[in-house]
Amino acid sequence: MSHYDTILIGAGMSGLAAGIRLAQFDQRVVVLERHYLWGGLNSFYKRGGRRFDVGLHALTNYAPKGAKGLPLSRMLRQLRIRHEDLRLGEQRFSEIAFPDLRLKFSNDFALFESEVHAAFPSQMDGFARLVADVRAADAFTPDDTSRGARAELARYFDDPLLIEALMLPMCYYGSARADDIDWYQFVILFRSFFFEGFARPEGGIQPMLDLLRRRYLDLGGELRMQCGVQEILHANGRVSGVRLDDGAELTADRVLSSAGYVETMRLAGLEDRVRDDERGSMSFTETIFVMDTEPARHGHEAAVIFFNDAPDFRYRAPDDLIDARSGVICSPNNYAAEAPLPEGILRYTNLANHDRWNALAGDDYDRAKREQADAALAVATRYGMDPRPHEVFRDSFSPTTVRRFTGHDRGAVYGSPKKRLDGATDVDGLHLMGTDQGMLGVIGAILSGISMANRHALVAR
Ligand SMILES: Cc1cc2nc3c(=O)[nH]c(=O)nc-3n(C[C@H](O)[C@H](O)[C@H](O)COP(=O)(O)OP(=O)(O)OC[C@H]3O[C@@H](n4cnc5c(N)ncnc54)[C@H](O)[C@@H]3O)c2cc1C
Repeated sequence: MSHYDTILIGAGMSGLAAGIRLAQFDQRVVVLERHYLWGGLNSFYKRGGRRFDVGLHALTNYAPKGAKGLPLSRMLRQLRIRHEDLRLGEQRFSEIAFPDLRLKFSNDFALFESEVHAAFPSQMDGFARLVADVRAADAFTPDDTSRGARAELARYFDDPLLIEALMLPMCYYGSARADDIDWYQFVILFRSFFFEGFARPEGGIQPMLDLLRRRYLDLGGELRMQCGVQEILHANGRVSGVRLDDGAELTADRVLSSAGYVETMRLAGLEDRVRDDERGSMSFTETIFVMDTEPARHGHEAAVIFFNDAPDFRYRAPDDLIDARSGVICSPNNYAAEAPLPEGILRYTNLANHDRWNALAGDDYDRAKREQADAALAVATRYGMDPRPHEVFRDSFSPTTVRRFTGHDRGAVYGSPKKRLDGATDVDGLHLMGTDQGMLGVIGAILSGISMANRHALVAR
């Protein structure tokens, strides 16, 4: 039987990053991944002769080369990756759009500040206070994780539209909570959007994933693909290893899991300890259109548009298959790149109900994908271009796709509403990393893998 210092469950961003960190310190480490591709929620696939990213809209937390003390710089330093290896292209700009409001932002915070000033002159004192507080906050060790951003924002603003406009992008890019987002997560995201900004690795997510995977393997880490963990083994409150889908057992001093809190508890046979309010339900559909034209040629120049087709923003799993009233439109063409993309691409994302999609099969499922994409576009085209006259290919995924390929219950992209910032579980030596540890997005998940490896697997030695 093989014994490891550390077993890592999942070859997503957090698992690969934790693996690099541990292999750097000569640990005997293995990453176990059930899928045949690495990347998890931010992977890639081929269809119709083209390669698609699964989840990449924007790499948040952009920092220029040489910037100090920012999340991206910390990540590069810890993984010993050079900034130029990521080949990041900055966004042109992005937008928050409501029926009577457009707020542009770019990687220069002054643009967002002037847009807020022009649209909400009476709110500028509150905005200056918010910006100062967000800059000063110690968001990574919050004293209270139960505070919601909606109530906090009401302390700064009395114009509800500005509150909704700030909630819209933050919820879409990170909230596991219905109709709100944890305040400390809002603070982290606000910085990552507005103080830092958006970029895209040239070539999409695959080159970045390949870089992480290569680095891990070169350091001597072991990666087992199509190797699912069926059970996490523990005795007397202490983890001892895992049993794989094929029945084989591996032992280890510790296990770090990116499967999600509820899913990890289930693997450990402890799901009866999970409360209902710890189960996530926020999921999405996305339709990707490949076009014979560039969006910018039709006036669609934003990298990302967060739109809400009403004055108030509702963020919860809809009763219907999707909620078309709000969404995200993303164009990878609208990032700087040495070589422009060969085709135009637009991605449309909407809130979706996992259980409704899960009840569909075969032709009904395929028909629903087509119909729901059209329903989504009926609203989204008020805020961005209509891709259909230029369509050469399309592909859609639903919450069931997310569940099938990443194992996250109900396709809950942002996992459990209750995060565990110390990564602790009820079992000694079994720790969480990634989304359910409380770090968001690609950079957040990578930093989570690094910090959980540092804290639980390196300091302990
Ligand atoms: C549609 C979409 C759009 C997104 N857009 C962006 C974006 O633009 N920018 C951004 O920064 N972030 C974005 N994200 C979020 C980002 O992808 C995630 O936050 C991040 O990838 C999470 O990484 P992770 O390591 O925590 O978990 P995951 O990626 O979920 O990795 C977990 C891995 O564990 C594996 N696994 C689970 N159970 C088992 C088991 N029992 N045995 C073996 N393996 C197992 C899974 O297969 C998976 O590969 C998006 C996500 C989605 C779905």
